[in-house]
This record gives sequence, C-alpha cells and structure tokens, in this order.
Amino acid sequence: MLIRIPNLLPIAALAMLFLSTLQPVMASDPASAVNVPDKVVDKAKVTVSPALSSDDEMSKALTNKISKGSGDIVIRTSDLPVGGSAPAAKEPKSKPVVKALAKPTEKEVHIHHWSYFDGPEGPENWGNLSKDNLACLKGKSQSPININIDRAVKAQLNPIEFIYRPSPLSIIDNGHTIMVNYGEGSNLMVDGRQYRLVQFHFHKPSEEAINGERTDMVAHLVHQHHDGDLAVVAVLMSTIKPASSRKYWWGDDSVNENYFINTLWNNVPLVKGKTEAPGVMIDINQMLPADKSYFTYMGSLTEPPCSENVLWLVLKNPIYVSEEQVKNFDRMYPMNARPLQPKGDRLVKETK
Ligand SMILES: [Zn+2]
Repeated sequence: MLIRIPNLLPIAALAMLFLSTLQPVMASDPASAVNVPDKVVDKAKVTVSPALSSDDEMSKALTNKISKGSGDIVIRTSDLPVGGSAPAAKEPKSKPVVKALAKPTEKEVHIHHWSYFDGPEGPENWGNLSKDNLACLKGKSQSPININIDRAVKAQLNPIEFIYRPSPLSIIDNGHTIMVNYGEGSNLMVDGRQYRLVQFHFHKPSEEAINGERTDMVAHLVHQHHDGDLAVVAVLMSTIKPASSRKYWWGDDSVNENYFINTLWNNVPLVKGKTEAPGVMIDINQMLPADKSYFTYMGSLTEPPCSENVLWLVLKNPIYVSEEQVKNFDRMYPMNARPLQPKGDRLVKETK
C-alpha cells in the first residue's frame, strides 16, 4: 500500500489510519479495497488539521470528507508508504515546513491498479499508468538489477549497523505483497546516516539477482532518513539448506523452518487491505543472516512510482526458509517480482 504524503511522517501509523478509515467505504466489496480501478479517482485532497490530536479524530474527519463526497481518496497500492522523490503535497503557505516527524497538514493518497503480469497494467506499462510513475519508464537508475560479482568493486565498506528492537506485529496484505509495518525505534546506521525501519515486505522470487540467479524469495526492509531519503535492505531467502560449514547462516542445521516467517504467515489477514494487529511481538533481528556483508548501489523503488535515489543494501547471505513456507507465500503471491532493469553505468560495491 503506498500512501503518498509529505515526507517525514510517521508512515506506518498513517498507513494504518488510512486503511482503517477506508474500510467502511469499501466494505461492500472487500476486493476493491485494493483493486480499485485507477482511472477513477479525481484529484482530491484530504486535509487534516494539525489541531486534531488523536488518530481517532483524524479518522473521523477523513471519514466525513469521504462520505460527503468532497473528494476521492486516491490510494496507490505499493510497497512503500513514502517515495523519497515523490512530489510532496502542498503545504499551506502560512505554515512553515515542519521537519521531522510532525503531524501532517495535508496529504494525498492515490489508488492505481497495476500488476506484475504482462498487459496494460504490467511492468512495461507502469510508466504509462500515471504521470507520477514516469520514473518507471524514463528512469536511469531503476531497480532491481542483476549483480555481477565479477564486476562489483571490492571495497572496505563500513559495516551496516542494525539497531533493531522488537515491535508489535502489524500486518497487511496490500494486494501486491504481504507487508509488516514496524513500530518506532528501530534504526539502521549506514555511513553515519540514520534511517528508521518503517516496514518490510516480500517478493517471490527475489527481485535482485546475483550472477543471474534469483533466490526463492526476498524480504525488503524499508528505511527512511528524516530528510526523506530511503534505504532498503534486501534479505535473500533460500530453501537450500545451510551447509554446516557455513556458520553464518541464520539458525543451524536442525532448523527446519523459520519461526519468524511462520509467525507472519500465521497472521496474514483474511481480508486484503485490512491491517491486522494480533497482539504478537516480533523481532526482525531474527530475519537477518549472521554474516551481514553486502552489496550496495543506488536504485529505485521496484514498483510504481519507481522513485529513484534509493540506497540499496543487498545482503550477500540468504536466510533459510522451508519449501512449505515458500509454497504458502506462493498461494498468495505466485510471482511478484519486477523484471530486472538495466544497470547502465552504475557502480556496485561489495564488502571485502
Ligand atoms: Zn520490495
């Protein structure tokens, strides 16, 4: 689910707010909560007064707007709540632009229908579906790419610091993937810059390829710096059992399935577009391989609007998932990977 709002917002909370707000409107057809035809919706803005203090009040205000028909809420389903280079909504002139995690003064949410399969809504046409998606068509730094290890520059890169803590599980099937909105307080440090973990989601097969090979699945951990820049960590997922000699694998040889993934799959909501908060704690540290060496390059979101200037950090070592876990994801999303994009003259660096 992509909710485009000015940068620098508490995104996960807003995503949930919008979803819960929209639910009554779409209740007559649950499927439409996600698959809303894109041409539909006029431009319309939903303005939320900063004076409204609680989420409930904001929800009510939004619901009123919607039911009055004063404007369509436009929602784009996508894996990123905020595109780093997405155009920001207009701020009222009298208000200073507030940095950091201020309450929104105005936001726009767009619904566009797109898919991973060939056709008018398929990846080749994402750029034609909306002018907001032009980067999908014209961008020169698009993701995913194939990483050719022989051509990656071996460098003394600083280790990524994962400063993650547990979060209450908040999970949604957004119509394109299974996404988990992560609680506040988990951060990534890369080269002295801090990015907050906002959400993570899955693709099957992995979008990124290493030497031409995609793994069974990948998890994308989406982080945002307070200036709006995005950093995405890709954790490859493989059903190939860890060899005992490769001690960096998560878990050990006795591990038959990944319990972290089981918790997620067990709690996937029955209804698309509805966020489920089952009262379970999760710890994303459990989804990281022990050896966190990585490839890095500059790319984009891998789905509309394909915004660029995304810092990609692809961990070299996959985590283990069972065949059954992959099969279960397959029952929901048999294929949700964007085709590989031209690497062009971009540099890919690799930890030594
Ligand atoms: Zn992704």
